[in-house]
Amino acid sequence: MIYKRSSALFKEAQKVIPGGVNSPVRAFTAVGGEPIFVEKAKGAYLYDADGNKLIDYINSWGPLILGHAHEPVVKAVVESAEKGTSFGTPTEIETEIASLAVSMVPNIDKIRFVNSGTEACMSAVRLARGFTGKDKIIKFAGCYHGHSDSFLIQAGSGAVTFGTPNSPGVTGGTAKDTLLADFNDLNNVAEVISENKDEIACIILEPVAGNMGCIPPAKDFLEGLRKLCDENNILLIFDEVMTGFRLAKGGVQELYGVDADIVTFGKVIGGGLPVGAFAARAEIMSHLAPEGPVYQAGTLSGNPLAMAAGLAMLSELNNNPEIFTSLEKKTEYLHKGLASVLTEANVTHTINRIGSMISVHFSETPVTDFKTAALGNNDTFKKFFHGLLAEGVYIAPSAFETWFLTEALTYKDLDATIEACSKVAKTL
Ligand code: PLP
Repeated sequence: MIYKRSSALFKEAQKVIPGGVNSPVRAFTAVGGEPIFVEKAKGAYLYDADGNKLIDYINSWGPLILGHAHEPVVKAVVESAEKGTSFGTPTEIETEIASLAVSMVPNIDKIRFVNSGTEACMSAVRLARGFTGKDKIIKFAGCYHGHSDSFLIQAGSGAVTFGTPNSPGVTGGTAKDTLLADFNDLNNVAEVISENKDEIACIILEPVAGNMGCIPPAKDFLEGLRKLCDENNILLIFDEVMTGFRLAKGGVQELYGVDADIVTFGKVIGGGLPVGAFAARAEIMSHLAPEGPVYQAGTLSGNPLAMAAGLAMLSELNNNPEIFTSLEKKTEYLHKGLASVLTEANVTHTINRIGSMISVHFSETPVTDFKTAALGNNDTFKKFFHGLLAEGVYIAPSAFETWFLTEALTYKDLDATIEACSKVAKTL
């Protein structure tokens, strides 16, 4: 593959955009080399600025569950744009998509649309604080909820007491209200709660983690959190920005039969346009402005183009739930194929999978939390990433990311991916 034009574009971008990118992971920092500049995409493929065609397993980091430039979504956006791009007034389509989302997801009565997953999670936490009258939150090491200050926290010296900022610009004052716990470790969560009795407003988590690779919850983990929350008057927030409308119509709540108090969305709900949302029972949502005192707003929230794209996407998923089964089968097929060629080449690996999310870890131990995810061999991952790229397969440029399958992928694409992996595995 030749990346001459991408390389030139990257140099130009670096002159006027910090690091040449508008979101850090795009810069290939974790794997080395230079990012690929994409010109267009259709179905399962990306076409880059040098004319290379790549099978895409990132799909804009999750939103494009039906593939790139999916006809009904594009049509909805074009038709909407012709009527005006933003009004700053209520529109009928906002109620349409809200009603559809509420009908698809269990346990929610009302939903508020925002512009990103970060905004959704940030606002959900504010709502939880306003509802409970408490300040502290619990998040899990390795779970990502966007770049809002409260979430950019790492374990401090006494993780049980409070965290410390993991980015300059996040104040110690903010960090002291975010408590860190270990994913899949109920005893640890119980300990953090008991050290901070009556001070915790909410527990926020990715109920199926996707930001330390794909890590499904251990048996009874979600039920255990639900119980701890009920016993301690804490709200449970499922961050379903990644999993919502991807793992099932009703997301992880439906899949695992555990109710959250507040659910956040992003990615798929916007059909590839900038959308986030948070939702809950009416009793909680009524605390939100203008109905209640918890302030939250947005000039472009509920933007007609974004709502049109989201509505087209959700309608298709709602009308064709067999998409979820089909995606799961494709992911299982890929899993088996990858495992077989890696084993054949004697490459130590662990593959995690659920629904259409899958991640390959170059480690021997099961990957169940951030610590075990970090045991993966990063040098092997870098070679794997660049090897696949050279074979025309585009996976996320970090060992801590999940691959997202789309319904646009054919079994031929999956076979080509397994074949590419087989070649690369022999070089690892
Ligand atoms: N929550 C989860 C689980 C995510 O994966 C992400 C982004 O990847 C976010 C929140 C933040 O969403 P956004 O990047 O749209 O702000």
